[in-house]
Amino acid sequence: MTRTYTLAVVGIGKIARDQHLPAIAAQPGFELVACASRNASVEGVRNYPDIAALLASEPTIDAVSLCAPPQVRYEQALAALDAGKHVMLEKPPGASVSEVAALHDIAHARGCTLFASWHSRTASAVVPARAWLASKEAGAIRAVEVRWKEDVRRWHPGQQWIWEPGGLGVFDPGINALSIVTHILPHEVALRGATLTVPSDTATPIAAELDCIATNGAPVRAVFDWRHGPVEEWDIDIETDAGRLSMREGGKRLSIAGKEIDVGAEREYPALYERFHELIETKTSDVDVRPLRLVADAFLNGRRIETEAFGR
Ligand code: NAP
Repeated sequence: MTRTYTLAVVGIGKIARDQHLPAIAAQPGFELVACASRNASVEGVRNYPDIAALLASEPTIDAVSLCAPPQVRYEQALAALDAGKHVMLEKPPGASVSEVAALHDIAHARGCTLFASWHSRTASAVVPARAWLASKEAGAIRAVEVRWKEDVRRWHPGQQWIWEPGGLGVFDPGINALSIVTHILPHEVALRGATLTVPSDTATPIAAELDCIATNGAPVRAVFDWRHGPVEEWDIDIETDAGRLSMREGGKRLSIAGKEIDVGAEREYPALYERFHELIETKTSDVDVRPLRLVADAFLNGRRIETEAFGR
């Protein structure tokens, strides 16, 4: 019989309320018993102002899910792993690649599961797209084009952390596309150049263009823009010998060689908690930093262009 693990959620904000709490409520493998948030609380569970108070008062809790912004992920994850808890990280898994590597080592040393989740990888189109690209049917991959464009004022109203160091700016949504691309391509992807457009009053970019190359030589180009609207573009097109594979709406829709494929209903966060449960049961971790590494490389290698103030 499947074991039910007691769980706490830390950082009760938009994504915790929209996705984590409903997904956990529907998942028999976890029982939400506590939350930690400075300004918010959740009905029906024990609430604490921060993770230190949570861990001090809940020594028997099995796992924590960290949903605060990336700049505080490392300290929270370290505290939870030090207390022997299994840890699920919202994306991005940290504000730097080295933080995540350190957490992975610590989780291994403590015998805890660390799950660096990428919710876009559980979008419905991802499994069939990956399978088709890996099949002989698709032939060689010739080019990849990503367009991830949305209106920041609509999708991140009032969020200041996205504009601060470690907040990633337009890479906060853009990394979702990179998480899909690095997962479905049967080749590794290396960054060759980038342009980062940064408003004069923010630390992070409002737009970015990435020029990458797959190890088979195919160009992989990504354009991220937060000045776009009113209709979002969350598209990935992959040209192959057998025609074009297109993902639309962030991985909710798929077409291959002009034919629309039925990929079923969306269940990104339920699938993430199933995966976290499976990792705990099998005493393993899942920490793939490749999407974050491409973003870090864009900051390392990119040309910065200053643009007009955003007016935060
Ligand atoms: P959010 O609502 O701005 O933040 C989540 C909560 O974290 C806040 O309500 C706040 O709760 C707490 N928090 C904020 N700053 C903190 C700090 N400095 N120290 C400790 N706690 C802090 O953000 P969100 O949209 O939920 O995003 C959180 C994470 O989820 C991000 O990494 C984001 O990339 C990811 N994500 C977001 C979405 C989305 O659609 N929004 C989708 C997928 C993934 P208290 O003030 O009560 O502590």
